[in-house]
Amino acid sequence: MPIETKAYIEELYEKVEKRNPYEPEFQQAVKEFLYSLAPVLSKHPEYIEAAILERMVEPERLILFRVPWVDDQGKVHVNRGYRVQFNSALGPYKGGIRFHPSVNSSIIKFLGFEQIFKNALTGQPIGGGKGGSDFDPKGKSDGEIMRFVQSFMTELYRYLGPDVDVPAGDIGVGAKEVGYMFGQYKRIRGAYENGVLTGKGLTYGGSLGRKEATGYGTVYFVEEMLRSKDMSFEGRTVVVSGSGNVAIYAIEKAQEKGAKVVACSDSGGYIYDPEGIKLDTVKRLKEVEKKRISEYVKEHPQAQYHPGCSGIWSVPCHIALPCATQNEIDEASAKLLVANGLIALGEGANMPSTLEAMEVYLQSGILYGPAKAANAGGVAVSALEMAQNSMRYAWTFEEVDQKLQVIMKNIYENSMKASEEFGHPGNLVVGSNIAGFVKVADTMLAQGV
Ligand code: GLU
Repeated sequence: MPIETKAYIEELYEKVEKRNPYEPEFQQAVKEFLYSLAPVLSKHPEYIEAAILERMVEPERLILFRVPWVDDQGKVHVNRGYRVQFNSALGPYKGGIRFHPSVNSSIIKFLGFEQIFKNALTGQPIGGGKGGSDFDPKGKSDGEIMRFVQSFMTELYRYLGPDVDVPAGDIGVGAKEVGYMFGQYKRIRGAYENGVLTGKGLTYGGSLGRKEATGYGTVYFVEEMLRSKDMSFEGRTVVVSGSGNVAIYAIEKAQEKGAKVVACSDSGGYIYDPEGIKLDTVKRLKEVEKKRISEYVKEHPQAQYHPGCSGIWSVPCHIALPCATQNEIDEASAKLLVANGLIALGEGANMPSTLEAMEVYLQSGILYGPAKAANAGGVAVSALEMAQNSMRYAWTFEEVDQKLQVIMKNIYENSMKASEEFGHPGNLVVGSNIAGFVKVADTMLAQGV
C-alpha cells in the first residue's frame, strides 16, 4: 500500500487504541477493518479529507445504564445495560441485544461497529447499533428473566422507536425475551409500535423466516462461494460450532443441501457423531429442554462428547461454520482446519476468528466468508420484518426465504466485485469491508459533517 495511506491508517489506529483503552475486541474489529481499506483510501482521498474514518470509529452515542431487578428469593441484583448507537447514515440504528456475562463496552462496541457495515451490505435502509447486558440468563427462572427484561426496557425504551433505533435478539436473547421487551415498551409508550423490535412472535408482527435467517443465510453465502469453484454442499463433511439459533438453522440448511454435519457444540464442549448430527435431538435438548449438548450422547451412543470448546476444530471437515461466539478460532485451530482438508469457512457468529486465524485462511487460499458478509442474513430479514410492520402486512415463509437468498447472493457478488475492483480478487474480507464502507462513507459525505 502507498506509504501515505499506510501512515494515515497507522496513525488513526493508534488514536483508536488510545481513546479506547482496555477494549481489545473493539480494537481488533477496528484494526481488521481499517487495514483492509487501504486500496480504497489510496484511490479516494475525499474520504480522508472529510475525516470519514475518524467519524466512523466514534459511536454517535453510547448509552450505559443501571438495571436493578429482584430474584425469586426477593434478593435485589444490579446489572449493567448498554446500547451503542454507532451510525445512523443509512437508517435507524439496527442491531441485536446480547445477554451474557462477558458483555462489556468493548464487546458491545465491536459488535456495533461491525453491524454498520454488515447492515450496509444487506442493501436495506438500516444504520448500525448493538446493545446488551452482563446479565446471565442461564439458570434463571422465567419470572426472573421477565423482571430483568422489564427493568432493562424501562430504561432503554426512551432511546428507541421504529424510526430511531430497532433492537433484536443476539446471544441469550430469543423470541421470548424480545416478547417481554415489546410488552414493556408498549406498556410505557401507550402505543402499538411493533416496528420498534424485530425477531418478534408471529402473532404480533414477527416475520416468518426470521428465526432461520442467520443460519440459512450463512449456508446460502457459502453455497455461492462453493458454486464459484463448481462445488456444492452435497456429500461434504461439515462442522458447525454452537447449538443456538444460528447453529441449529445452519445445520438444518446444510443437511438439506446434502451435507453431513458431524459436530456441534455448546459452551461446555462438543459432540462428534460419525453418522451425522440428529438435528431433532439437538433442537429438543437446546430449544425445549434447555439442557447441555453432552446429553446428546445418552440418546445416540455412537456419538462422542468432548469437554472444552476449541477441540471441535480438530474434527476434519471440508466446510467449517463457526456459529458460537467471538474469537472461537485462533491461529492454531485455523492451521489445524486447513491441514485437515478445509475447503471453505463461513462465519455465522460475529468475529469468530482472531486476526491471526484470518491470516491463515487468506494465505492458504481456502474460500473464506467473513462474518459481516456471511452472517448478514439475520439482520437482513430483520429489515424485512420492519418493512412488513410498516405495511401492516405479512409475507409467506417462501417469499421471505426467496428475498433472503437474493440478498445473500447480492452480498456475495458485490463483495466479489469490490475485491476485484480494488486489486484483491477473491479476498472477501477486503471486498465486503470496502463494499459496506463505500456505501456508508458516500452517504455520510452526502449528509454533511
Ligand atoms: N444479532 C444479529 C446480528 O448480529 C441480528 C441483529 C438484528 O436482527 O437486528 O446481526
